[in-house]
Amino acid sequence: VKELGMPESATVTTCGYCGVGCTFRAEMKGEQLIRMVPWKDGKANRGHSCVKGRFAWGYANHKERILNPMVRASIDEPWREVSWEEALAHAASELKRIQATYGRLSIGGITSSRCTNEETFLVQKLVRAGFSNNNVDTCARVCHSPTGYGLKTTFGTSAGTQDFDSVDQADVVMVIGANPTDGHPVFASRLKQRLRQGAKLIVADPRRIDLVRAPHIEAAYHLPLRPGTNVAVLTAMAHVIVTEGLADEAFIRDRCDWNEYREWAEFVGDPRHSPEALAPVTLVEPDALRGAARLYATGGNAAIYYGLGVTEHSQGSSTVMAIANLAMATGNIGKPGVGVNPLRGQNNVQGSCDMGSFPHELSGYRHISDASLRRMFEDDWGVPLDPEPGLRINNMLDAAVDGVFKALYIQGEDILQSDPNTKHVAAGLAAMECVIVHDLFLNETANYAHIFLPGSTFLEKNGTFTNAERRIQPVRRVMTPLNGFEDWEVTQELANALGLGWSYTHPSQIMDEIARLTPTFAGVSFAKLDELGSVQWPCNDAMPEGTPVMHINGFVRGKGRFVVTDYIPTDEKTGPRFPLLLTTGRILSQYNVGAQTRRTANTVWHPEDLLEIHPHDAEERGLREGDWARLASRAGETTLRVTVTDRVAPGVVYTTFHHPATQANVVTTEYSDWATSCPEYKVTAVQVSPSNGP
Ligand code: SF4
Repeated sequence: VKELGMPESATVTTCGYCGVGCTFRAEMKGEQLIRMVPWKDGKANRGHSCVKGRFAWGYANHKERILNPMVRASIDEPWREVSWEEALAHAASELKRIQATYGRLSIGGITSSRCTNEETFLVQKLVRAGFSNNNVDTCARVCHSPTGYGLKTTFGTSAGTQDFDSVDQADVVMVIGANPTDGHPVFASRLKQRLRQGAKLIVADPRRIDLVRAPHIEAAYHLPLRPGTNVAVLTAMAHVIVTEGLADEAFIRDRCDWNEYREWAEFVGDPRHSPEALAPVTLVEPDALRGAARLYATGGNAAIYYGLGVTEHSQGSSTVMAIANLAMATGNIGKPGVGVNPLRGQNNVQGSCDMGSFPHELSGYRHISDASLRRMFEDDWGVPLDPEPGLRINNMLDAAVDGVFKALYIQGEDILQSDPNTKHVAAGLAAMECVIVHDLFLNETANYAHIFLPGSTFLEKNGTFTNAERRIQPVRRVMTPLNGFEDWEVTQELANALGLGWSYTHPSQIMDEIARLTPTFAGVSFAKLDELGSVQWPCNDAMPEGTPVMHINGFVRGKGRFVVTDYIPTDEKTGPRFPLLLTTGRILSQYNVGAQTRRTANTVWHPEDLLEIHPHDAEERGLREGDWARLASRAGETTLRVTVTDRVAPGVVYTTFHHPATQANVVTTEYSDWATSCPEYKVTAVQVSPSNGP
């Protein structure tokens, strides 16, 4: 403040990084943002923040931002700056040419979990109404799509059950496949506060994450499972609960389908699912697992929090349903202090899924094959809709390699860096005739693009984000977009170049349309958000001020559904060539593929990705702290420095994925979740060997 002077104005807005959804007062001097002050009235953060939201906003003014549209005839040619009119007319003409040549289904679009609800809604509308197909997907495909599938199947809605405040009433907290300290720091502080007040902690994670032993916190149980065995661990916990008579049968009879419960209980109760029988698979000490199960079932209010260590597996959807089974079996659902709580990675993962970004669903998770639902949208939009579900991201890339998918509009996602099996993604992009990248920077995907449309940051736009607790919060324009347009305006101009005739003048009108067409958002408006600060969906006539805790009087689907989730080992196996298992995660100061945080001072805290390796495995390979190592799988290889630590077990290595120099996804494979195609990022068989460096 001393250097930049005192602020002249301030605007309250929502963080553009993670799914916690902290709110800040953005303090300005003229057109310059001088600091972000955590907002004391923020319902998700109550005046707290982390190093990303508070300090890592300088990328908005970074010199590498692209501010003018660019085109090129082929990816071998240099970019040529053009006017917005020329870029959008060219994009529309290419999309029309390609559809005329290769058919209606040869093009598609990808929405971004970093963009607002209103922007996301418009991209899926562009695809459905303008491209006349359902080839729309979201970057949530590669993170929380199994959450959508698993929670909808068991509870009836694709969202976490609780608000963050709920943790204050938890007596037992189980954290599985998540590292809140690094991934969701402000919620982690809240959780630690509750643990210091005496709540008991169970951590199920292959790695000894910070929470296991933090100042004044000691997990009652750490279950260091073998990567890829979540379902086996949860099945063994369920075995203990059922066979020791710890299930809450009164709750189950009242709230769930009793016959399905009996079938599930018989399955998990089988002796082959005991902790002892499954120990050779999970590598978890049976007594610890039994203790954890008893604590979860009998320790009072028990809440489960999970992250991508649950979803990014070939059994991601099964794991989500196994978690839901445990919660229902013990009555830990439908009241404060309990529940099933996915910790969302990006700021608007929940929102991008809510807005109809999946190829089979319209907003509010309603299937596209429903004729009366389609008719409602058709009447509103004035165009017929395709009843057939479209292609997922991975299917679009496969179809491109096969020569039948030719054009893609990508808003705010670097699929080359963030999707698995980089070589295959590159092959798919290279096979397309028109790749339109709408983003802040010339990212790795833009190497394969023919049209580049400059994007705007969260500081330059109005709209809403929905955080991990279903909280819809205002995003308010703090500074004028450097490129001249908010992202929704660019999508609107592209739609109009295709002849759609849209005429929104403010994102509030888009939210009014969302509310008109989506029952769970029926009571949401910008005016209400200004009045209340935020609301948690469902927000409608029944719950005009929103719904902090779901499923209180009954599940959204009626009776809660138990689903038998048999453990099926991943096809990704270790062997003599690739004897170690790689798993991946985040670090506090960086965010995803680093496109934003690497362009801020936060990089001083984490200038490169490191490979964690156990001392035993390091010694066997002649590797010491700081040495370069080659990390290879059957998909590809990369080079990175090692750090030797017993935080990981022997046989397991771990790295983060924030730096393009490392490109961790070069080594991840094509395996994915059976239900949703979410990539199996968390289990890759690898070899590690000494290297002289990149
Ligand atoms: Fe932003 Fe998440 Fe940090 Fe909050 S915890 S400041 S939402 S990155």
